[in-house]
Amino acid sequence: MGNALNFENAAFVFQAGSVLLYRGRLPSADEAAGLPLRDSGSFGSLEPHGCSWASVSRDAVLPDGWESCDRRAFGERFGMEAFKAMSAAWGLMDWKSQSRYCGRCGTKMEQSPTDERAMKCPKCGHMLFPVICPAMIVAVERDGKLLLAVNKMNKTGRYSVLAGFLEVGESIEDAVVREVREEVGVEVDRSSIEYLYSQYWPFPRSLMLACRAKWKSGELSPDGTEIEKAGWFAPEEVPPNIPGTVTVAGWLIRDFLKRHGIERP
Ligand SMILES: [Zn+2]
Repeated sequence: MGNALNFENAAFVFQAGSVLLYRGRLPSADEAAGLPLRDSGSFGSLEPHGCSWASVSRDAVLPDGWESCDRRAFGERFGMEAFKAMSAAWGLMDWKSQSRYCGRCGTKMEQSPTDERAMKCPKCGHMLFPVICPAMIVAVERDGKLLLAVNKMNKTGRYSVLAGFLEVGESIEDAVVREVREEVGVEVDRSSIEYLYSQYWPFPRSLMLACRAKWKSGELSPDGTEIEKAGWFAPEEVPPNIPGTVTVAGWLIRDFLKRHGIERP
């Protein structure tokens, strides 16, 4: 954190899920134009104005001065504003790369002449707009303790709060109740579910909806497929290695600690 990043006319260039940096900072659009770009576009009316996005293929060789930075590491290195802008760029790039053909008739899509964030089928007129997938993330509390679990996908074995995508037809509350039940086998008190905060999350193109809920019944029994282990943690028992400050999970855990008088960097 703390590295100032100049967004003016910056280009967010992606390669296989990472952001490319030039001399340790974001490149300008002119500097990015020197790379073997596969696709590119502008932010249009999105903030920060004047920025652009681009992508290079996975096997493209980077010239001297360029380096690849993991998207999560980018957020920790440059802070929340930079992470937010990068997330928007990623969302546009990833959406466009997956909107190349018409879902109705299979024709190659073209950028809409009237809206730069829409793809239009030249044959049948079908329009595609950027897709955002809602997901819930929840801090479940029981008698002043916080539910934390280790996800099998997380190779560092770090404890975090539970999260999952909303399914078709579900409300946020439905998803909270179902995910907690499926993943660790406990029931939450539906009337206690509170919505707190949201954040666009570029993995792949989600809107994370942060909630708090109270335990109602049942003992923890991790499902063993998605969740490896889970436990109730008093504020002073929360492990030192918690998710980063640009993540919603990190925000929820720090919020829990803060309410118990503990500040975590
Ligand atoms: Zn079509």
